[in-house]
Amino acid sequence: MKPAAFRYHRAHDVTDAVGLLGELAAAGEDPKLIAGGQSLMPMMNFRLARPTALVDLGPLRREPALNSLRPNGSGLTIGAMVTHRTVEISELGPDFSVLSRAMRWVGHLPIRSRGTVAGSIVHGDATAEWCLLALLLDAVIVAEGPGGPREIPAAEMFHGFYTTAVEPDEVVTAVSFTRPAPKAALTEFARRHGDFAIVDAAVSLDADGGGRVVLGGVAPAPVRVPEAEAVLAGGVPGPALFAECGDAAAAAIDPPDDAAGSAAYRRRLARTLVTQALHEAWEKGETR
Ligand SMILES: Cc1cc2nc3c(=O)[nH]c(=O)nc-3n(C[C@H](O)[C@H](O)[C@H](O)COP(=O)(O)OP(=O)(O)OC[C@H]3O[C@@H](n4cnc5c(N)ncnc54)[C@H](O)[C@@H]3O)c2cc1C
Repeated sequence: MKPAAFRYHRAHDVTDAVGLLGELAAAGEDPKLIAGGQSLMPMMNFRLARPTALVDLGPLRREPALNSLRPNGSGLTIGAMVTHRTVEISELGPDFSVLSRAMRWVGHLPIRSRGTVAGSIVHGDATAEWCLLALLLDAVIVAEGPGGPREIPAAEMFHGFYTTAVEPDEVVTAVSFTRPAPKAALTEFARRHGDFAIVDAAVSLDADGGGRVVLGGVAPAPVRVPEAEAVLAGGVPGPALFAECGDAAAAAIDPPDDAAGSAAYRRRLARTLVTQALHEAWEKGETR
């Protein structure tokens, strides 16, 4: 299937991309940025998106800051154009190794080799691994628009069905993960390997007790589950606590009922996946 006709522009750098978005919009166009194209092109092919102009960010891969991973204090900053595959094969150290371990769940190798971290987060699919990881590790999304750069905390990023806080005239330049999590895991269930998950769970356990629970596929956007985190905060890590936490997560959510899975099915998946992810974080997560 082919997309509807569109005009094609290449941005030379971030300033050029922001400028092009503004100029095209002022000229009555409906422009959109394209990075890896792994979400936007399928949406255009299915006519779910019909931008009249594309601004290609491809040349921005040449800019080291946009195409590298670098420590940032106790955190990790990933340039917007870094691909899923680059993260998958990078040695990130114990604090952020969950990022590379989680990448095997993202599509297939050709998709991971083209799709970008920023593209995934801006696209905002409710089950996208990067969106869950952003909430798990307190990511800060740096977006540059006509008024200059601004920072968007992950907690304020995901507004609902494929809707994020990034404005149509903004270019995301980096995503900073600010919360180290040596004991963390992401797991999921999809009908076939490489498909988007029906439900996915990302969890972390803190050294001094407590932890974080994030679910995808149970609401229009990925969500933290405070009821499940309260269980972790009050107990001793181990099978009984992890099962109780899974129960609490399942009880707290109000998942959708659709062709991919009934609400009851998604609730059962959430219970199983949260419990499983906690075991994995506890047993296989890196230790300092
Ligand atoms: C068969 C298939 C299976 C897949 N499976 C999974 C999966 O299991 N899990 C998963 O998470 N993803 C999956 N994906 C999607 C894939 O991960 C995409 O790469 C990712 O969602 C989008 O990244 P991209 O660079 O391709 O963005 P694009 O498709 O180029 O763009 C996506 C959106 O982000 C915007 N955008 C891109 N870059 C920027 C930027 N720097 N600043 C502002 N806006 C920007 C675009 O305008 C567009 O709205 C799958 C895709 C396919 C085709």
